[in-house]
Amino acid sequence: MLRLHDTATGDVAPLDLRTPGRVSMYVCGPTVYDAPHIGHGRFTLVFDVLRRYLMFTGLEVTYVSNITDIEDNIIERAAEQGIEPSELTATYEAAWWKAMDALGVLRPDEAPHATAYVGHMVDLVADLVARGSAYETDDGVYLSVAAVPGYGLLAHQPLDSLRAGARVEADPGKHSPLDFVLWKKAKPGEPTWASPWGPGRPGWHTECVVMSLDLLGDGFDLHGGAIDLIFPHHENERAQAVATGRAFARHWVHNGWVTVDGEKMSKSLGNFTSLDDLLARSDPRAYRLLVLRSHYRSPIEVTPETVKDAEAGLARLDELARRFDLGDQLAEGPVVDPGGSDGTEGGAGGAAVDAEAVARFRSRMDDDLDTPGAVATVFDLVRRANGAADAGDATGAVRSARTAVLLCAALGLPLLGRSDVEIDEESADRVRRRDRARAAGDWAEADSLRGDLERSGWVVEDGPEGTRIRRR
Ligand SMILES: [Zn+2]
Repeated sequence: MLRLHDTATGDVAPLDLRTPGRVSMYVCGPTVYDAPHIGHGRFTLVFDVLRRYLMFTGLEVTYVSNITDIEDNIIERAAEQGIEPSELTATYEAAWWKAMDALGVLRPDEAPHATAYVGHMVDLVADLVARGSAYETDDGVYLSVAAVPGYGLLAHQPLDSLRAGARVEADPGKHSPLDFVLWKKAKPGEPTWASPWGPGRPGWHTECVVMSLDLLGDGFDLHGGAIDLIFPHHENERAQAVATGRAFARHWVHNGWVTVDGEKMSKSLGNFTSLDDLLARSDPRAYRLLVLRSHYRSPIEVTPETVKDAEAGLARLDELARRFDLGDQLAEGPVVDPGGSDGTEGGAGGAAVDAEAVARFRSRMDDDLDTPGAVATVFDLVRRANGAADAGDATGAVRSARTAVLLCAALGLPLLGRSDVEIDEESADRVRRRDRARAAGDWAEADSLRGDLERSGWVVEDGPEGTRIRRR
């Protein structure tokens, strides 16, 4: 059974499900006003790995992750560009899914847009006002955190110390600096929805609590996101549920920072790093391996060196898949443990897997998602497969190799076998012509050749040494 660290209790404990066999999870998605960065890449990979692992162990998973398409940054950015907020959000939502697909992150079962749930958000705010937990001011409606039992649970700080640390805000109508906005009254020119408090829009914390409860129901299993969402976002989501008497998430899971040059990645520090740049410069699978090689709660350092190191590891795995002619065929969609939950030897397509290695992999993953340990199990299988093949033990070698490929697939890491890397002459010719067109500045021709390659099933990337292609 999977044991996970719970931010609320601070303990690693077994995942206690609302309904045995089924997991409902909500992971806070992006606010779509800018291109995704490597921090987005990390949290989506962490929760994709968790989701895939739950499926691997035979659980049925419902995964919801929202798109925040109304929020202050969106309004500001759209105004700067002189376009409608909806035009801005459509552009960056498309960029989001493109990056997620490139990373091999499974699409959520539901990806609710905040703008589609505003009616329900108004209902929640009205309920909180009716209960006396929220109050109206000149610029909006606020939740009174003093009315919420256990406020500070996720932050692990009592109300008094949170209050002492809160920044003093300009709004003189707030009863306490910790009170947070549920509904914002509109200023001229802003997008609006009707409400009992006049035209306006929901606050961000209200968006997620409504969408998660609407789609997953009361007491859903797991709420996740990056560590910077613990306070105030998740604390405030929870506060609203508590104030309406509804059971909220049973477990809270948060992943660690991404650091760049030893510093926490953030736009304000100027070390904001584009996910698209990373994906264009390296194999997208390398970032997944880099993320897997650290525990999800530890910070990870993303530098050209750590990415290169992950690419070298990936090359060893691909080499194995080529040597034993095992590739993508084991990696179509989420993979289920072929041995079943008891870890006994089973068959995948008739060939045996190393049940002992699968059990070791599972014991690492079950221990608060110890992916570095799980990946070490995979590389141990690679060594054993190559060693057995060199010693003439074909059966043992194939068993170890198949198991390694299967476990990579369980982690969302498809490997490239022989048929995946052979480039036919026509495609090779297109690559050469595209490099010549790019060198000559003939972008129309380069784009047209890119289109031809993509239509014949290649992913086209621009590396420093020119066009690179790989099988989709
Ligand atoms: Zn959220």
